[in-house]
Amino acid sequence: MKFTKFVFVMMFATIMVSPATAQDYFFKDKAPFDASIPTPEEFLGRPIGAQHTRHDLIVAYLTKLAELSDRAEIETYGQTHEMRKLVMLRVSTSENLKNLESIKNEHLKFVDPSQSPTNYNDVPVFIQLGYNVHGNEPSSSEAALLTAYTLVASNSPEVKNYIENAVIFIDPTINPDGRDRHTQWANQFLAKEIVSDGADAEHNETWPGGRTNHYWFDLNRDWLLAVHPESQGKLKWYHEWYPNVVTDFHEMGTNSNHFFEPMKPIGSLDPIMPKENYEDLNNMFAPYFVDALDKIGSFYYTKESFDGTYPGYGSSYPDLQGALALLFEQASSRGHLQDTDYGTMSFAFTIRNQYTSGIATIKASVENKAYLRQYQQNFFKTAMTKKAPTGFAAYEFGDAYDNNRNKAFIDYLLKHKIKVYKNGAKFTVPLKQPQHRMVQTMFETYSKYRDSVYYDASAWSVANFYNMKYRGLKSANLGEEITATESINKVTSVPKSDYAYIMDWDDYYAPSALYYMQKKGLIVASAFKAFSSKTNLGIKDFGYGSIMIPVSKQQKLSADKVYEIVREAQKKFSVPIYSASTGFSIKGIDLGSNNFRTVKKPKAAILVGDGVSSYEAGEVWHLLDTRTKMPITKLQTNRLRGAWLDKYNTLIMVSGSYSTLDSIKRQNIKDWTAKGNTLITIASASKWAVDKKLVKEKLTTKPKPNNKDKKDKAEPVERLPYVDAGENLGRERLGGGIYQVDLDITHPLGFGYRNNLVPVYKNNNVFLAPSTSAYGTVAKYTKNPHIDGFISEQNMNTYLKPSASLIVSQLGRGRVVMFADNPNFRGAWYGTNRLFLNALFLGNHISVPRARN
Ligand SMILES: [Zn+2]
Repeated sequence: MKFTKFVFVMMFATIMVSPATAQDYFFKDKAPFDASIPTPEEFLGRPIGAQHTRHDLIVAYLTKLAELSDRAEIETYGQTHEMRKLVMLRVSTSENLKNLESIKNEHLKFVDPSQSPTNYNDVPVFIQLGYNVHGNEPSSSEAALLTAYTLVASNSPEVKNYIENAVIFIDPTINPDGRDRHTQWANQFLAKEIVSDGADAEHNETWPGGRTNHYWFDLNRDWLLAVHPESQGKLKWYHEWYPNVVTDFHEMGTNSNHFFEPMKPIGSLDPIMPKENYEDLNNMFAPYFVDALDKIGSFYYTKESFDGTYPGYGSSYPDLQGALALLFEQASSRGHLQDTDYGTMSFAFTIRNQYTSGIATIKASVENKAYLRQYQQNFFKTAMTKKAPTGFAAYEFGDAYDNNRNKAFIDYLLKHKIKVYKNGAKFTVPLKQPQHRMVQTMFETYSKYRDSVYYDASAWSVANFYNMKYRGLKSANLGEEITATESINKVTSVPKSDYAYIMDWDDYYAPSALYYMQKKGLIVASAFKAFSSKTNLGIKDFGYGSIMIPVSKQQKLSADKVYEIVREAQKKFSVPIYSASTGFSIKGIDLGSNNFRTVKKPKAAILVGDGVSSYEAGEVWHLLDTRTKMPITKLQTNRLRGAWLDKYNTLIMVSGSYSTLDSIKRQNIKDWTAKGNTLITIASASKWAVDKKLVKEKLTTKPKPNNKDKKDKAEPVERLPYVDAGENLGRERLGGGIYQVDLDITHPLGFGYRNNLVPVYKNNNVFLAPSTSAYGTVAKYTKNPHIDGFISEQNMNTYLKPSASLIVSQLGRGRVVMFADNPNFRGAWYGTNRLFLNALFLGNHISVPRARN
């Protein structure tokens, strides 16, 4: 290292952390180090912990290590929405890296149920250290730099033993877009006279914060749903390498300490997971963390919280792939130094705990590598022999009307390496396959639980997310395995017509094609009643909502131009479009009927900012931006002015407190809606609309006991043990479940559905009473609505059963479309996205008839 840089580093170190030996704070017991490898401190020009490190610098440092050392190699496994690199550093001895292909082949034999290798101790164990999935939990990426340096540069016998017996895969930043949002925040408010006061801006990010990715999604839920490039890249990597141990580092409240597994004992009992995972393996690893953290005097806890029930966490998905996945939670300094109940806590301190747990993970993995290998082998071997509790041999699914949704679901299953077969018009998934437990995850539903308080969702049968009608089969005729999906959504090219084109509204991408045609200036109409027409493919039955494009009524566009636009829309979205040469229908309405209503192009805005759920706002943004290919204006609540709304015909309000909307702004929204526009509210925004009296609708309330003595208002309260309060109150919080609704498929909001029974996702306690208008209740829960997930008896019987899931309420000449549930949950609810898109595209054409008094 150059002398000048060295001096600079030393001076900086003296100011910022402590003394000249800043890096000794982390790893002095790993000496001696190879002097030709720069420490992170030397590379960055300041000690670790003195600032937050930008993702590009993290990548640059790891790239430098791979350049300088034959112990390291770097690969890029993906790119984020904001075009940041997703990288994985492989570290092992140069000998191992030279032979990596053959080591990998040996390793993969253990996950192949058809092979039975027994050389458990001979093959290096595969460890994947994953860091910083939540961007504003930054300590772990800094620990990743220290860990990479240690493994690459240390010549201590301890570290040499690790790399001889392991291949360590370091993913320094799972969520680079979120990390850099937070990094920028924390660094820009860092003062020379460091401010540990928790009220300082440095410690309090503004909306939407750095936790989530570009579209404000929680990537630590996306391992299962695989909606985003970060998870898609990771899954692809994962199913190439099948590590034995995987870590997931997080941060929690500033006044906590450090958490490692085992998790909450009841909650972690996934119905699908082998018991050995959460019992034997966790107990085998825990003493290593105890030892390592005791040694540096750090405090920690286990068992009391967190559960691995939802299979989409970084600390649960690998458990379903024969690995041991480990969650670490570190108290956050959120900033560089913050006051706590126990004095100040520095960023460097939080980094050291993460670093220590990471190294302890490597130690535990290396010392138990034979056990881990045998466990993983057994995991995949039993997949071929175990019987599902349902007794099913396979599942059969398929939607006769929507091939894009079929394709999306199959593409999705293939991402998880689930084998899918085509048998006639249906698709089958056998349970006897290496991904047996993932098949269970996708299709099985549960009603009995060991626990009643969940860290997150208690339902994840993804087949229901896609509204995929499916059934279990006792024996399976598989058919042909699907390896490519391009043919699934293939459509017949629409031929030119001089009269009209008709597009099915059943297809998932029909709204995308519609928007494309509207953007290009086509005038289109939606069928408010069904009909049968003679088309280029013979007589065809068209359902509610089918889109008709009348050629001669496109006054500014020639028939050739109309055809070009229709063709382009079909090519882009692969949707079924037909040409018709006559307006006369064989059954139902003719093409010139008044029951065809022209559809206005949506000009939509969504409220964002303080007091708005960034998750739900992000889901809307993501859906419209990436699937519907439609721009949406993100209006900040604190900048909202009434007059601005006139540019839009649709306003979306997702869950939120909307405390920044004062009575004037509320009146602005009400007046704008009454002019004939559409306000769409989701979940707690629907409650807001009821509470603030924008609509004359009600929430479902608990029936009052028949009590004639009105003075005696208070119901007697049962006395309960204090310690049970958390559990009792938690039970009544609806954490996330799947329920069945009865949808009016003749209502414009129900267009595009052929079956009135639809699964919806509910993760809130908003219960809308059925509309006060006979025609306003679009979807209501069925008599036995439970499909999947935990729900308390009170929530089920008192609140959910009598409630509506979707209502529309007239407001002047406009209307409010109110969702009680979230139709766009985590970007994965292909099944209910249509309800939302109907509100967007057809909302402006809904009036709610009322009987005259
Ligand atoms: Zn976290």
